[in-house]
This record gives sequence, structure tokens and C-alpha cells, in this order.
Amino acid sequence: MSEKVVYLDNNATTRVAPEVLDVMLPFFSERYGNPSSMHSFGGAVGREMREARQALADLLGCESDEIIFTSCGTESDNTAIRSALAAQPEKRHIVTTRVEHPAVLSLCKFLERSQGYRVTYLGVDAEGRLDLKEFEDSLTSDTAIVSIMWANNETGVIFPIPEIARIAHKHGVMMHTDAVQAVGKVDINLRELDVDMLSLSGHKLHAPKGVGALYVRRKLPYRPYLIGGHQEHGRRAGTEATTSIIALGEAARQARAHMADENTRVRALRDKLENGLLAAVPDSRLNGHKIERLPNTANISFKYVEGEAILLLLDQLGIAASSGSACTSGSLEPSHVLRAMGVPFTYAHGSIRFSLSRYTTEAEIDYVVENLPPIIENLRKISPYKRGEADPVDPRKPACSC
Ligand SMILES: *Cc1c(COP(=O)(O)O)cnc(C)c1O
Repeated sequence: MSEKVVYLDNNATTRVAPEVLDVMLPFFSERYGNPSSMHSFGGAVGREMREARQALADLLGCESDEIIFTSCGTESDNTAIRSALAAQPEKRHIVTTRVEHPAVLSLCKFLERSQGYRVTYLGVDAEGRLDLKEFEDSLTSDTAIVSIMWANNETGVIFPIPEIARIAHKHGVMMHTDAVQAVGKVDINLRELDVDMLSLSGHKLHAPKGVGALYVRRKLPYRPYLIGGHQEHGRRAGTEATTSIIALGEAARQARAHMADENTRVRALRDKLENGLLAAVPDSRLNGHKIERLPNTANISFKYVEGEAILLLLDQLGIAASSGSACTSGSLEPSHVLRAMGVPFTYAHGSIRFSLSRYTTEAEIDYVVENLPPIIENLRKISPYKRGEADPVDPRKPACSC
């Protein structure tokens, strides 16, 4: 592998920002107190944690006591859905979508198979968008919770969460959104929204892995998932990951300060990458709506080639990207998101997700636009499916378990 690493896999995880690393380091060493302790050595850490909570609340437009720190986005998603079900035991129906992250989708499938809940999985159109009429029609008096992601991790497609939450509330249904990919990239003001619970994750936001948060609207009936000590006002037991929480606070400050400028810059780079590749490679297409999409994400399919083969050759050039979601890579199943969009399988198999960040440079984008087209051309020479021949039939394997 060449020395240069062009990291275009920021929807999988991000680099810890240098400013964030600086702020968190002392809490590994001299400032190791427990914020629950009576002494001022611990109390001082508790004060820093309160400031981190406030910084995150400022980013989300909510009150700091509406934030619960967790261990990751997955824990936040699981806690939100299980809390809604536990708080309304008479209701047995969940509404979600076919394109959720496994943190929501696998939990819903588990609840359906092992606990007898009824789950509606809403489909999406060819551009990855929901039908809001179909959504509204799915809500019943038995519906305990709607859990719909804000932005898709594979395609970047943004769902109209303000409108979705308004419809959920009109029918008296609790609303949760997995906003792991949206926080820091989309303007969020929870005071103006009908969203009841929102999940986020530190490592998608230039904070470390292993910390997340769940927003829970004040007065919303809530049942903790982890039971034990009184941390997080009794809403999430376990000694707080002080170092990571303080890091998440700084990441929130950085996101708030730079979001507008970075979105503009990153979108321009993403468009350059996307337009460059689509122009240079015949039989390539964009997956996901062109406009209603995160500024950092481009999911592009190259017909007649395998995504894994492309990734391997990109890797040899020091380019890190992703095919499908991390959970589906390693298997030859096309991603559940692209399947839900009805992407033909000769395209879906050759899909690559590029996800940029505030550290992506124009030189890196130029490098990819220059080097990827010949890779596709060479792979097509050895592809069993050739251009101009009739398309093979999709064998329709069973869906991925996530
Ligand atoms: C990464 C991701 C998660 C999971 O977050 P973790 O902190 O890795 O558990 C959940 N939802 C979406 C949309 C994600 O991209």
C-alpha cells in the first residue's frame, strides 16, 4: 500500500479532531476523578461534564437536562425504542423503514420475531425517499413508536424528519430519530420539532469511539435500559465515560462553529468527485436523491463490476472507501438500502460509498477522479457480465440478516 491515505470513509468513522484530543487528554491522566464523588477532585470533573452536556444541547437546540450520555449510537437507538415500548406496554406496533441502520433494523426484527411486536417497515422509492402518505396510513392507536433515521449512512439521503415528527404527534405517537449521520451536518433545532428522542454517536462527529448520546424530551415517559447507580439522573446507570463525554462536548462546539462553512466546502468537493466519476465512467449512476442528501456522501454504482474488487484496488492506491454498509461488506449480498431502492443488481453489486469530512482536500478528490476510472475499465475487461449483453437475472437471494 502506498504511504498516502485518502480517507473517504467518514460515514464509517471519523478522525478525532486535534482540538478534541487536546481537551480530553488530561482526563486520562491527572484529572481522573469520579464526577459522583463528594470531594472537589471528582466534582471538578463533574463541572467539565456539565459544560460538555451544555455544548451538545447548544448544537441540538435543546436543554442540557434532555441529554443522556451513552456508550454509542447503537445503545442510544436500543434505549429509545425499548423505553418507548416499556413505557406503553399496551401498545404493540412499531413503525420504521427498510433502510435503517442495523442498530434499529436488527432490534426491530428481534422484537418482531422473539417478542411478538408488529413492525411496519416502510419502503422507499428509487431515489431513497419515503412516501409520507404511506407513513401516515401506517399509524394506528396501537403504535408505540416511530423510529426513522434522519440521514441514511449509505446514500446520505435525508428524510423530512420535521414533517414526519409532526405527523407522528398528530396521531399521538412517540417519535424517535437515529440522527447519527445528521448531527454536525444538518441544522437541528429540537425546540422547534416534534421529535421526542434522538440518537447520536461521538465517533461519527470527530469525537472518539465508545460514546454517544440520547436526547429525551422533558416529561416524556422514559424507562432506563441500564439499571444500577444514579448516574445521568437515574436514566443510564454506570460510571460516566468522563474523558469521552468531555471530548464529545468539544466535538459539538467544533461542529457548531464550522458546520455552515464546512458543509459548503465539503459539498463542492463531493460534487466534484461525483461529477468527475460519472462523466469519466460509462454505465455509472448515483444512488440516492441528488438534492435531499448529506453534503459529504456520494454513493455511486459502476455497472458490471464487484464493489469489493474496486475497494481492493483503491486500497492499493491508499484510498479508503466502502461498499454497501460495513455490516454487509465481506458478504456478496448487495446492501439492504440499495435493494430497498430497487437498484438493479448489476449496479448494486458495484456500488461504492465515498464519505468526506472537514479533513478532505481537493488534491485527494483529484487523485480519486484520476485513478478510479482506469480501475473500472480494467475490471470490466475481466467481468463475467459484459456491456452490451443482456442483463443477467437477479437471483434474489434472501435479505441480509441485518
Ligand atoms: C454508525 C451508525 C450507528 C451506530 O453508531 P455506533 O456508535 O457505532 O454504535 C447508528 N446509526 C447510524 C445511521 C450510523 O451511521
